[in-house]
Amino acid sequence: MRVRFWGVRGSLAKPGPTTLRYGGNTPCIQVVMDDGTLNIFDCGTGVHGLGQELMASGKKNMKGNILITHTHWDHIQGFPFFVPLFIPGNEWDIYGPGGMGNQLNTTLSGQMSYSYFPIHLEALGATVRFSNLGEGTFPLGGAKASLRYTNHPSLTLASRLDSGGASLVYIPDHEPHSLHPLDAPPGTIPIHHEDRSHVNFLSGADLLVHDAMYTLEEYPSKLGWGHSPFQKVVDYAIAGEVKRPAFFHHDPMRDDDAMDKLVEEARRYAEGADHVPEIFAA
Ligand SMILES: [Zn+2]
Ligand SMILES: [Zn+2]
Repeated sequence: MRVRFWGVRGSLAKPGPTTLRYGGNTPCIQVVMDDGTLNIFDCGTGVHGLGQELMASGKKNMKGNILITHTHWDHIQGFPFFVPLFIPGNEWDIYGPGGMGNQLNTTLSGQMSYSYFPIHLEALGATVRFSNLGEGTFPLGGAKASLRYTNHPSLTLASRLDSGGASLVYIPDHEPHSLHPLDAPPGTIPIHHEDRSHVNFLSGADLLVHDAMYTLEEYPSKLGWGHSPFQKVVDYAIAGEVKRPAFFHHDPMRDDDAMDKLVEEARRYAEGADHVPEIFAA
């Protein structure tokens, strides 16, 4: 499978000179499977560029799967601007967590009511099917997809795709259940059972795209906001023997130079561990 990042910024799109290298668009990643199946994770502002590229390819009768991890603005704001949704003949299967009352299509059409947007969801020209998902495993576009709820102030699904011996784990928004054990060597297995299950879920991934919005120093003032300090992501990647952890959901306040420093600090932190993952920032 081939993965391309179209949006990596968390919470708020932040275009401009301070984010030129890492990018300012909110979450969207494109995953093309070996058989050509197109899977899209999240529809932040980054999905606009993906839509433009798909349109420019001139391909007719496009098909794909769109998995929305949760419906916070930064993950759905690009949805009405994804042009391939408006083209008759195209077919899109849209998946998202639906358990907590508001079903996915209701939330997305709410974003497209006239107070917010000039065109209604019903006006989409493509054939669009909505499915609500929960935890579990199901076949998705040529892969085995596994889903697990994250710790975030909205029902949010982490995804794992396994196909042809490769694995991708996508966890854009997640806060550790606990930081314990404290002052332990990097990669120490967490104590909280949910954190242990989290490590099991991501273990062995070739590419782990994980929320790394904060530093441990910043984290105490952001408790309960639903995001991770990057050191915990490194711990999980070491403990789970992940090949390549990609920091994701970058803080809009973190400019390119600060991102470089954060990655350097993360690599130093991982030095000397039994398993040293290839850390980078998406
Ligand atoms: Zn987010
Ligand atoms: Zn969120």
